[in-house]
This record gives sequence, structure tokens and C-alpha cells, in this order.
Amino acid sequence: QPSSAVLLQIEKARKQFGGVIAVNDVSFDVQAREIVALIGPNGAGKSTTFNLITGVLTTTGGTISVLGHKVDNAPPQEVVKLGVARTFQHVKLVPDMTVLENVAIGAHLRGSAGAISSMVRLDRADEAKLLAEAARQIERVGLGDQIDQLAGSLSLGQQRIVEIARALCVDPLLLLLDEPAAGLRHMEKQRLAALLRQLRDGGMSVLLVEHDMGFVMDLADRVVVLDFGTKIAEGTPDAIKTNPDVIKAYLGA
Ligand code: ADP
Ligand code: MG
Repeated sequence: QPSSAVLLQIEKARKQFGGVIAVNDVSFDVQAREIVALIGPNGAGKSTTFNLITGVLTTTGGTISVLGHKVDNAPPQEVVKLGVARTFQHVKLVPDMTVLENVAIGAHLRGSAGAISSMVRLDRADEAKLLAEAARQIERVGLGDQIDQLAGSLSLGQQRIVEIARALCVDPLLLLLDEPAAGLRHMEKQRLAALLRQLRDGGMSVLLVEHDMGFVMDLADRVVVLDFGTKIAEGTPDAIKTNPDVIKAYLGA
């Protein structure tokens, strides 16, 4: 059992691709009920860090723990089981399927071994359970009125929220979001931020990679800054905004 409220702990995580050190001994953590933003110029190592956390990549060094369980070389499915769900940088919905179908199928693939073949083995009772859970999460994110619409007919902002509903089906403690605000209009960003605050206040933690500084500084409880694979700063949005190393990294990029 964890003795503290640390959900995710990253200690000197390292990832080397040949001669490139994409993540260079990076340490930070995410506490329960906290929104943490991971920011930094292009190539800083943000996506690689996400991939190390979710088991998509194995580490070259250091440790990553979820609720005290070491996961740095665990397969993605095991990380999901510990309560970590993610969305991807680009929308991955099937446009000519409904919102409900997208959420249900995505949730099933995440909850199973990830193989399409396991769909075939889904019996009627399981299917009903899955659809009910998907519908519950769609309501939770405020898209109940769109449940039977084709995903492709929704605005980009709504599609992002559908992806979040899909991630919520595994009942995560920590949600990882890769650039959730990219391309969204102002109102859509506000709606997304409100949803993420609602999830946090309900007990969830969020770790997001995001380029939109207005969105990040308004939403995050804490900000971690990477530059060339190294953590150069960490703190509250107000402290980060005025940090000279951060300003230099962004202006020099
Ligand atoms: P960010 O998401 O912050 O833009 P990335 O994590 O994608 O940065 O990349 C960090 C560095 O690692 C970059 O120099 C990138 O070119 C390199 N890199 C990322 N993935 C790979 C890979 N699969 N093979 C080789 N180099 C990679
Ligand atoms: Mg990236």
C-alpha cells in the first residue's frame, strides 16, 4: 500500500535512442487530485516521457512507479490495470461510428489484451455491460445528447472529449493527455478545462503535455518544464511564467 498520495513517481528516468538522449535523468511526481502539465519546446522529450510512463517504450535507466509498483519495463496493459489511461496527440476515433460505439470499442480494446480477436469472444452480457459503462462515461463528460451521433459529425472539441470518455472507461486514477487543447477554439478549451477540473475535484489526477500556454497556466496546479531531455524547472504556473531558464528555453528554441 502506498504510504503517501504519490500516484506517479518518476526517478531519473532515461531514454536513449542511439546517440540521442531523449529523456535525461528526469525526475518528478504526480500526486493524487493534481493537474500537472509537462511543457517544453519541440523535441524536449515530452512524448517520450509519456511513452515511458505508459509502457510503450522501455527505459534506458531510472525507475517509474505507479502507486508504488515499478512499471518502467511493464507492458502497457499492466500500466492500465494500475490505473493509468491516456489519450493520443491526434484524434483516433472512427468517424463513421457513433459516439457510443467509439467509446465502447475503445474501452473494450483497452480493457482486454488489446487484440481485435477478443471482440469476437464478447458475449451478449459483456457487450451490454460495456455499452452501459460507455454510456455512463459519455454522460459524465457531458456528451449525453450526442451519444448516437457519428463521431465524425462532432466538433474537434467534442471529439477530444469523446476520447477522454473512452479513457475513463478503465476507471483511471491518472489520466495522461497529449496536447488535448491543440486546434480547439476558445470556448472548446474552456469546456475541456472545466471537465478536467471536474475530474480532478472528483479525485483523479491529470498529467498533460500541452503547447497552449494560456490553457496550461490557467489549468495546471503544477508545471514541469523539459528542454533537450532535461528538466529545467518545476513549480506553480506563476513561478514558471517568470522563471528565467524557462523564458530562455522558449525564446532560444
Ligand atoms: P517532444 O514530444 O517534446 O517534442 P520527443 O519525446 O518526441 O519530444 O523527442 C525527444 C527527442 O528524441 C527528439 O530529439 C526526437 O528526435 C528523439 N526521438 C523521439 N523518438 C525517437 C525514436 N523512436 N527514435 C529516435 N529518436 C527519437
Ligand atoms: Mg511530442
